[in-house]
Amino acid sequence: MPKPVEALPRSKVIDVVVIGAGQSGLAAGYYLKHAGADFLIVDRERRVGQMWRNRYDSLILITPRELNGLPGMPMPGDPAGRPAASEFADYLETYAKTFDLPVKYGVRVDRVTQTADGFYTLVIPNNPIIRARNVILAFGTYPGAALPPMRKDFSPKVAQFHTYNYANPKNVPSGPVLVAGDGAAGREIAAELAATHEVFIASGRPRVVLPERFLGKTMWWWLEKFGIYKVRKFKPNRPRIDFIPTSVPEKEALVDLGVKWKPRLISASGNIVTFSDGSQATIRSVVWALGHLLDTRWIDIPAAKDPAGHFLMDQGVSPVPGLFFVGRPHQASASSGLIMGVGRDAEHVVGKIPLHIASGRETAPAVLAS
Ligand SMILES: Cc1cc2nc3c(=O)[nH]c(=O)nc-3n(C[C@H](O)[C@H](O)[C@H](O)COP(=O)(O)OP(=O)(O)OC[C@H]3O[C@@H](n4cnc5c(N)ncnc54)[C@H](O)[C@@H]3O)c2cc1C
Repeated sequence: MPKPVEALPRSKVIDVVVIGAGQSGLAAGYYLKHAGADFLIVDRERRVGQMWRNRYDSLILITPRELNGLPGMPMPGDPAGRPAASEFADYLETYAKTFDLPVKYGVRVDRVTQTADGFYTLVIPNNPIIRARNVILAFGTYPGAALPPMRKDFSPKVAQFHTYNYANPKNVPSGPVLVAGDGAAGREIAAELAATHEVFIASGRPRVVLPERFLGKTMWWWLEKFGIYKVRKFKPNRPRIDFIPTSVPEKEALVDLGVKWKPRLISASGNIVTFSDGSQATIRSVVWALGHLLDTRWIDIPAAKDPAGHFLMDQGVSPVPGLFFVGRPHQASASSGLIMGVGRDAEHVVGKIPLHIASGRETAPAVLAS
């Protein structure tokens, strides 16, 4: 059951506040708990795992259960099988309960700043400010949908969705649909829409789809065994190639389902879309599956970012003392944005936090007037 909004602590500066109670925040919480830290995990949702529940109804994880366990608790069930998103969300909820992690729900942090005394202030709507010595940003590997300016060129009669608010084919008006983007989500959504709709998919760069299993093991198992996902090639904020073995439908499978495979989408006008080969389609709906965007503006700490607004860090440790990250893609290795990587990263990051475990606490008030 969703939890009600809980009262926030008012009496002291918290040693560590973790923003986000997804896999990244919970993994950080596990190590903070074991370190005996004074900490709090806050999340704007009313339930742990909600990000997974909010994703499209048919989502099945591409990673097998054997690699979806967080520190201290393997994921139950067939190790080589892939769980539904709701099953993984339930696992996260059980995880938070099992380790009695202090999660405060319904707490949306609108702004994080640092005061002259070095403490962090977290601004929460209709609530007093929280003060903390350290903050771990675990607010989502892929927090926002990327939407192109072209979306404004469509007629208002064209229904527009993105992978964050698309739930299932029933919500999509009848008539031709364009799925813009052929990543894992775009392909899966195109495949399920094909049963009820005429579907076009606009593709992007060529992708290598590896087989799901090899010599009786999942491809993920092999990649993990050979350390591919532990490789550190840390160059902050540079795009990298991800090797993703996946069960998502290949081009041929989609074409067999009746999906019309198209090259890159280049323009839209009213309800007509044009592709890079000059072909056109008349559509009723579009599902944007173009990837994700990170908005860093609400972390109001200029020294934490480069001029383009990207976070600066070395393996999850910001140059700004007291600021840390878990769950940023590639923050330490190729698995940092995947479930299998957050435990390693969280352990490393928590080890870098100057915890005030046995020492006296600062006397500054925890809560400032909002
Ligand atoms: C469609 C999709 C499928 C994926 N499938 C896989 C897969 O199969 N295997 C895999 O390993 N990875 C997968 N990933 C990648 C990654 O594991 C997920 O994105 C995962 O949800 C990231 O976990 P997280 O804890 O870092 O962030 P999230 O799960 O996004 O959790 C972040 C939490 O922070 C909270 N939050 C955000 N902003 C605020 C704020 N301002 N104030 C308070 N709380 C806030 C949110 O409510 C949320 O609960 C997938 C990603 C997507 C998008």
